[in-house]
Amino acid sequence: MTLTKYFKFFLSVQNAILLHLFYLRRMELKERELILKNHRLRVTNCRLDVLKMFSMVDHALSQKDLEGSLKNYDRVTLYRTLQSFIDKGVLHKIPNESGVATFGICFDTCTSEDHNHNHLHFKCNQCGNIECIENQPIPKIDIPNGYKVQHWNMIVDGLCKSCA
Ligand SMILES: [Zn+2]
Ligand SMILES: [Zn+2]
Ligand SMILES: [Zn+2]
Repeated sequence: MTLTKYFKFFLSVQNAILLHLFYLRRMELKERELILKNHRLRVTNCRLDVLKMFSMVDHALSQKDLEGSLKNYDRVTLYRTLQSFIDKGVLHKIPNESGVATFGICFDTCTSEDHNHNHLHFKCNQCGNIECIENQPIPKIDIPNGYKVQHWNMIVDGLCKSCA
């Protein structure tokens, strides 16, 4: 193993551990309250519960997924909660061709002013889950002169780790 390869391997292991810790930490009530406060959101039970749902899975969730598990909140409340999370940079909407909107957690310190989501999304053709793929270098895409990019969205499909 060359030094560069070893270093890359070390970094990927380190990222995996950090990511894992990140998820574990997010399940704590105090941490979830802190996320809301940091994003200038009032702490409500619905926001805490929705955040918990996202911290328990490693894939994107739709409003329907939330409705199925959080039956004590009505659809309007869940919809408003999701909107407030998108506005404040807690979640991002993942566009996809199925027409059903799914949402992923913002890993970085997104704010309402700066949502930065230049990461890939992976859609599994078997279970249908969509995952945010972080920490992977993104190919550089050249746009002809005179065009101004505002958003871009890249979905890769195939079989996820559990289905492959
Ligand atoms: Zn974001
Ligand atoms: Zn799958
Ligand atoms: Zn994402």
